[in-house]
Amino acid sequence: MPLTLPGICWPLQASTGHLAVTTAHITGHFRAGAGEDAIVLCDLLPAGKFRNGAARHWCRTHQCYWGTQADLADRQASQQMRCRQHASPMGYVLYPVLFDPSQFHATTLRLGPDGLLQLRARTGDGGTLLARNAAALAIDCRALPGLFPPDIVQLNITPPAAQAYAAALQAAMPMDCSDCARCGHPHLDLGSFALAPHRRHSCGHCGHDASHSATPIVSTPLWRLRRHYTQCF
Ligand SMILES: [Zn+2]
Ligand SMILES: [Zn+2]
Ligand SMILES: [Zn+2]
Repeated sequence: MPLTLPGICWPLQASTGHLAVTTAHITGHFRAGAGEDAIVLCDLLPAGKFRNGAARHWCRTHQCYWGTQADLADRQASQQMRCRQHASPMGYVLYPVLFDPSQFHATTLRLGPDGLLQLRARTGDGGTLLARNAAALAIDCRALPGLFPPDIVQLNITPPAAQAYAAALQAAMPMDCSDCARCGHPHLDLGSFALAPHRRHSCGHCGHDASHSATPIVSTPLWRLRRHYTQCF
């Protein structure tokens, strides 16, 4: 039986991602507290049509569309609606650090040479240092009203998002944070998309694939976090 637990998961290969989540929980099969071998259940929602007019769904978990002939045949055979990546192992962290920015100041977030995120911050009163190293962590968005749409509970910082952001910064890419024209969620470019500025962005939250930024950019919600709140990377 799959378990539903507080957690962060991410596809190991994807060109978009879903950081700004509306739930702190994930549902799947986990062998440890963290790793790269989770099997996570699909989270499919209607997402318009394919170019040939066929109805299309978006899998928020695996960041891919559903509705091709092969997908329909699989549903017929398995009696399940699941995307083509349903059995792909995913990276994950269960019970992640949930950082509440309102409780700290002088916050910095960096990507260490070991690939771990390094979170450093000081408490408001005595200035005690908080130091956490983790593969992935979450920023509590309830403490940052107005930064993202109100249905977003937390911003997950995943390894692919941190790596793409660091690579785009290093390559001096034009960066910004483009919001989806349909659902308003911030768009995330990963991998090669984080190194090739573009105008048309596809949403990791709802699958809408026709949001345009004014100029070619690499989009990530980490950019908005950095501009409005904390020094990251
Ligand atoms: Zn899926
Ligand atoms: Zn994009
Ligand atoms: Zn969207």
